[in-house]
Amino acid sequence: MGSSEKIWDKIIFYLKRPDMRLFWIFLGLATAIILMEIFYVPGYLVFISSLVFLGIAAVIFINNYRLAKANFTIQLKKKQLEGMIISLQDGVIAYDPNFKIMVFNLTAEEIFKIKAEEVLGKDFTPQKASEARFKLMAQVMFPSLAPVVIARSEAGMFPQVADLSFSDPVLELRVTTVKILDDKNTLLGFMKIVRNRTREIEAAHSKSEFVTVAAHQLRTPLNAISWTFESLAGEEKMPAEFKEIINNGKTAAVKLLETVNDLLDVAKIEEGKFGYQMEDVEFVSFMEQILAQHLVSAKQHGIALYFDRPEEKNFVLKIDKQKMAIAINNIVENAIKYNVKNGEVRIALEKIKNEPFVKITVTDTGIGIPPDEIGKLFKKFFRATNVLKFQTEGTGLGLYMARNIIRQHGGQIWAESTLNRGTTFYFTLPTNSSLVPIKEVFVEE
Ligand code: ATP
Ligand code: MG
Repeated sequence: MGSSEKIWDKIIFYLKRPDMRLFWIFLGLATAIILMEIFYVPGYLVFISSLVFLGIAAVIFINNYRLAKANFTIQLKKKQLEGMIISLQDGVIAYDPNFKIMVFNLTAEEIFKIKAEEVLGKDFTPQKASEARFKLMAQVMFPSLAPVVIARSEAGMFPQVADLSFSDPVLELRVTTVKILDDKNTLLGFMKIVRNRTREIEAAHSKSEFVTVAAHQLRTPLNAISWTFESLAGEEKMPAEFKEIINNGKTAAVKLLETVNDLLDVAKIEEGKFGYQMEDVEFVSFMEQILAQHLVSAKQHGIALYFDRPEEKNFVLKIDKQKMAIAINNIVENAIKYNVKNGEVRIALEKIKNEPFVKITVTDTGIGIPPDEIGKLFKKFFRATNVLKFQTEGTGLGLYMARNIIRQHGGQIWAESTLNRGTTFYFTLPTNSSLVPIKEVFVEE
């Protein structure tokens, strides 16, 4: 009983749906015709036409019923999807290839301070940017209008990901653009998913602000300790057995100060406030100056240091000398520190053919990096397991800073390594100053 009742309920439900209209119209017309026939036509003809009408009615009913059911399912899915999109935490804008807006959800309304009905169904053109109310949305729809855009995906590849930052008011948006295609791969339009990351980034900033304050507080007393050891070490009357203890103390204080300074630099980098001062620098002589500072340490470690100068000796690059020195110093220091006795470190510099970049290569004959750990090389505090065993000194911040500094110069850094054979670090820097980012931005992984 129960299930047949359910079937009836279902049939009655669909009979009421608008897709059944044709069936009802036909039923009405057929009844009217039969009623008229009863008066004017012989009974057997009425019977035959009733049968024909009944047949046609059945066909229409079955067709309409199927249609009603299919449409109902589609509508239900559409509503579910709309409900989901509307209530998403991310802003969603969908539009056709002519930039006619088709979807504009609640979060998009909040982010852009625009009501959906103001844009829905209308073509959104770049000219809209001239109207203050639509400016932000125009900058998201056409990122070339935005003040600061950092692409997070390759140009022309979908989904496209870009970070947009605005300063007045402060707003950090991550915009993902996807293509909407049908089954036959015809382009129907695009969808932009807009994530408001302002709070997230602010939270990260306040965390690094804490590190900054703590590090600053540590620096002053550490300096005092360092100076105390220094002056004690210089004391002539100091018995020899104390001298060693004092020297150890001095070394430890200096190391600690270095670590605190590294932490301070990392915090500044992550706040996007490292403060780059870019200037034109002849890079070959700059490298020579840096490498000269490593000669003593290389000798102490029994390492031969070579620099393969390029034939052409005029590479003027736009760099921050002090920051670039931090990056290169650490890469060279690592190549010396993680080397073997009588090993070597070779540094080369070359122009990349047909590309506006120079490539710097630092090759060592050292202990190498375990293959399963090389992916973590540029992560904060990473130290490889083979290093931890014999080199207890080091915080694992050097390469993290180096990567950030090189990226801020418009370059890339990567490494190749064979365990127990050696490691090569590569990094590139643009020769064309227009490829150096104008604004300091921190790219978190
Ligand atoms: P510091 O913060 O003082 O530089 P660190 O040298 O340990 O400490 P990074 O320079 O970031 O930190 O290097 C991270 C880790 O990567 C190292 O601890 C080491 O395990 C590995 N590594 C880096 N360079 C080399 C290299 N040339 N050969 C072998 N391992 C390396
Ligand atoms: Mg290091």
